[in-house]
Amino acid sequence: MSSATNDVTIIGTGPSGLTAAIYTTRGGLKTQVYAGIQHGGQLTTTTEIENWPGMREAIMGPQLMADMTAQVERIGAEVVYEEITKVDFSKRPLRLWAGDREFTSHSVIIATGATARTLKLPSEAALMGRGLSTCATCDGFFYKDKKVIVVGGGDSAMEEASYLAKLCSEVILIHRRPVFRASAIMLERARKNPKIKFMVPYDVVDTKADHTGLIAAVLKNEDTGKLEEMPIAGLFMAIGHTPNSSLFKDVLEHDDNGYLKVTNFTETKVPGVFAAGDIADHVFRQAITAAGMGCQAGMQAIRYLENLSTT
Ligand code: NAP
Repeated sequence: MSSATNDVTIIGTGPSGLTAAIYTTRGGLKTQVYAGIQHGGQLTTTTEIENWPGMREAIMGPQLMADMTAQVERIGAEVVYEEITKVDFSKRPLRLWAGDREFTSHSVIIATGATARTLKLPSEAALMGRGLSTCATCDGFFYKDKKVIVVGGGDSAMEEASYLAKLCSEVILIHRRPVFRASAIMLERARKNPKIKFMVPYDVVDTKADHTGLIAAVLKNEDTGKLEEMPIAGLFMAIGHTPNSSLFKDVLEHDDNGYLKVTNFTETKVPGVFAAGDIADHVFRQAITAAGMGCQAGMQAIRYLENLSTT
């Protein structure tokens, strides 16, 4: 392979991208990993992780990702702190751009993950970081001893609420229906927390602000339709994620929600282009399953390049 062209370019530095990098680099391939706008992926916005094997004690998400990044760099992968802005998979070698800079790669592993959804409130742009947040770990500290709302009924909402309960005076968990997607253990943990109050079925339909930022949320009781205003300092949205696949929309097959389609583990329809982690898996969406897919993509990239060089 030519030295100017990467053997493998990995887009994304979450568990899938970094695990893929471990395998391709240890497999002797020249590997560049592009960190994009959220280096470390979604685990950098989470708190304690208890379901990553090998940890006697829970580990904080940002710490796990920092350790994983250090590991791939020690092994010899190059982590590039730039965003891939364009791809052209119609020619060989494959072409990619980081801003104006164009480069080529014999194979690509897409591990761009997913991004937190928001409620699309009219005030979001103005109040993000001034009362609105999608990340308790990042912003919870600013709401110490204050009353906050967490919106959502999944594991993320339970996790955010439990985290904020350690810091805030009161946490109101708002969910739009009485049934929760959250796992039983995480729901139970949040329910048992005396600082967390559940309000269902409710939606947040508007916000009130003054010059300092958010001061209240307007809630709608979905049973009665009645609106009520609740004074709060912070509103954390924990309502799921959207796959970061817009770059590949016209290039690769995806489902109606934008998740990339893969066959034979991590293969996309373009030979030499693989997809791993939350970008291609909307079912499990766990760090460990993302890492597992990253391993598969790395090994499949190695095999693909071996076959190329022998044909
Ligand atoms: P999720 O399971 O998709 O749950 C999203 C929640 O937000 C749902 O309850 C949904 O309500 C609600 N929602 C969506 N759009 C809404 C809107 N516009 N207004 C109001 N509510 C809205 O997402 P997640 O909680 O982020 O979890 C994603 C995956 O990651 C899951 O597999 C989860 O198990 C995993 N996870 C695991 C951990 C952990 O183990 N430590 C932590 C976090 C996440 P409906 O139910 O009515 O649709």
